Amino acid sequence: MHKLLFATFNRHKQEEAAAILAPVITLISPSDVNYKDSPEENADTVEGNALIKARHGYEQCGLPCFADDTALEVMQLNGAPGVHSARFAGLDHDDKANRQKLLAELSNFDQPHVARFRTVIAYIDSKGEEHLFEGIVDGRIINEERGTNGFGYDALFVPDGYSTTFAEMTDIEKNFVSHRARALAQFKSFLLQ
Ligand code: IMP
Repeated sequence: MHKLLFATFNRHKQEEAAAILAPVITLISPSDVNYKDSPEENADTVEGNALIKARHGYEQCGLPCFADDTALEVMQLNGAPGVHSARFAGLDHDDKANRQKLLAELSNFDQPHVARFRTVIAYIDSKGEEHLFEGIVDGRIINEERGTNGFGYDALFVPDGYSTTFAEMTDIEKNFVSHRARALAQFKSFLLQ
């Protein structure tokens, strides 16, 4: 059994990861190990930001630690918001503002708004060695928000093969198909080796 810190304060991410990684990995709560603040995510790649967060957790708590970073890439916007997904509507803005900005930018384009989510997990093991795992899910952005579960851009994203947004899915359904679930599944296999 591995006990690892997931360096995030995002409750949704913690819940998704706990469900997927059980019973191989038990997540240590940030509050149990004095993990207090998030670092500035100023890398220009998703890999770079995942590493910044994992290194920060490892340095602060001295424990094997992982972190993730996610980009929503919309083809008609040449891959934007991409690595800037969290601050698409500006540094002080929230998920709702990000979704509104995305809809406003896409209103100039016809459907389908082909898109994908890409998550990279950075893991720092007990020897301080770094490992990366990637998960991608293809789909499209719809023209209005649907659903109230999840977070971020979930209410706008319909994965290929489905007619519901991530925000209309149960946690179990989202975890069956999502970018984060795919990256976590690879991470879990690596830990089981
Ligand atoms: P970060 O990985 O937490 O930095 O997330 C980057 C941006 O993508 C933020 O705006 C998040 O809200 C959003 N995001 C991350 N993961 C998901 C997801 O699973 N669904 C929808 N939006 C997400």
